[in-house]
Amino acid sequence: MLCFYNTLTARKEPFSPLQAGQVRMYTCGPTVYEYAHLGNFRTFVSLDILGRYLKYKGFRLKHVMNYTDVDDKTIRNAQQAGLELRAYTEKFIEAFQVDCRLLNIETPETVVRATDHIDDMAKMVEGLVAQGHAYHSDNSTYFRISSFPAYGRLSRIDLSGMKAGARVDQDEYEKDDVRDFVLWKASKPGEPCWDTSFGCGRPGWHLECSVMSMKYLGESFDIHAGGTDLIFPHHENEIAQSESLTGKPFVRTWVHVEHLLVEGKKMAKSAGNFFTLRDLLKNGSKPSAIRYLLASVPHRKQLNFTFDALHQAQQSLERLRNFQYRLQKETFAPGEDPDLNRRVTEAKQKFEEAMDDDLNTARAFAAVFDLVRDGNTAMDESRFQQGNIKACLEMLEVWDRIFGALPDDDYEKLKESGVNQELPPGQQVFPERISVPRRATRGVVELGQGTPLTLRHETLSDSEIESRIEEREQARRARDFARADEVRKVLDQAGIFIEDTKAGTRWKRK
Ligand code: AMP
Ligand code: ZN
Repeated sequence: MLCFYNTLTARKEPFSPLQAGQVRMYTCGPTVYEYAHLGNFRTFVSLDILGRYLKYKGFRLKHVMNYTDVDDKTIRNAQQAGLELRAYTEKFIEAFQVDCRLLNIETPETVVRATDHIDDMAKMVEGLVAQGHAYHSDNSTYFRISSFPAYGRLSRIDLSGMKAGARVDQDEYEKDDVRDFVLWKASKPGEPCWDTSFGCGRPGWHLECSVMSMKYLGESFDIHAGGTDLIFPHHENEIAQSESLTGKPFVRTWVHVEHLLVEGKKMAKSAGNFFTLRDLLKNGSKPSAIRYLLASVPHRKQLNFTFDALHQAQQSLERLRNFQYRLQKETFAPGEDPDLNRRVTEAKQKFEEAMDDDLNTARAFAAVFDLVRDGNTAMDESRFQQGNIKACLEMLEVWDRIFGALPDDDYEKLKESGVNQELPPGQQVFPERISVPRRATRGVVELGQGTPLTLRHETLSDSEIESRIEEREQARRARDFARADEVRKVLDQAGIFIEDTKAGTRWKRK
């Protein structure tokens, strides 16, 4: 039975949508004032997996995501850049879309911009004022927290110290600062300004998501999601505004993704401890390995980002690819090993049980890797037969429908993305093919020959280095010195120093 942890009830609960067979879900999208960082993508990859799994379970999914293209931060940065708000945010929306394609994040059915919904926002403000839940003051409009007794239920804050009538104007603030929050802000000179019946101004961040989610999904819907830092004040305020206006429960299940950390601290632009996807690409990392890493830790656990972990993710992914390659290319005896096919059924069951349990991706991965180990052993011991191929391939296909990282297509995706056109020649990422060619033999899958590689230091494992050295040896034995030289250059570029001695070739990392 599919269960999700619901922040609102603080319990794992069986999931069933309001309308049978269809899930309506809203994701708070990126604030497009800068390139998104890997922490942001942890949330977006996790929610992509949630969406894909819902579809896998047979639900029709109506997924809406917004771009926050007007708030304190977008306005501040556009002003600093001397650009109109829309011209400024456009660049980061496009960059986000490119990054999502590289990370194989599916585009939600409906993607909307806050600035395209200003009239709807003004209407919501008017409605809240008319009902006494909001009031105008100094040309801004505030939500009256005391008018909504359930305030604080999602984030479990203590309201006892709150001063009635005190106000907060920023979009982001801490729990100690809980006060009447701003729905609509008076614009300062030079800030964008929209005309409404209650004056010229601009929306506050929290109002935006209430308006866009209810417009496309209705007054009550199934899932609302984002990172845990959005619980307070953003989602708390969304509930207050929306339920005050409609008198109906706003959202059934609140799903929050735990933070990606760097050296124990939340990755954040404000902390300066962040990597964008482009930073990692320049460093030689593959988008598919990044996606794998982000997906491999269940969304309610913090994930500490390290290059070691990314390297391991790359290797684990290669194990899956190699297994798939063997299934497709090796020759097996006719017949079927029934034990092995039972193992596949069992693995699939464990995989689904793990995913049904609040998307426990780590357990789901383990179920598949156990099968890969058994499958590889059966192949090595010549027990694997033709009748076992289909079920194993299907298991990998199921894994990939949800995790989306199996095809070795980073090079093609990067080429198509246009990321390189934006970068000066010296800084281009992966100017050459990076996919690792495979060659199946009985027992092992070896690296093939002849394709230039531009993998850097961090992404060459010891066994990859040794395969390259072996390749160079073979080229030298075949008196193909040009090829041998080429391989040496690749190793050199990857930061590997090699030395030919009487005892053979020795290597070390520079
Ligand atoms: P923002 O662009 O700041 O509005 O954030 C977009 C999404 O990324 C939100 O759902 C945030 O909660 C989420 N987010 C921000 N930082 C992190 C982090 N370090 N780890 C996981 N999610 C994050
Ligand atoms: Zn939001």
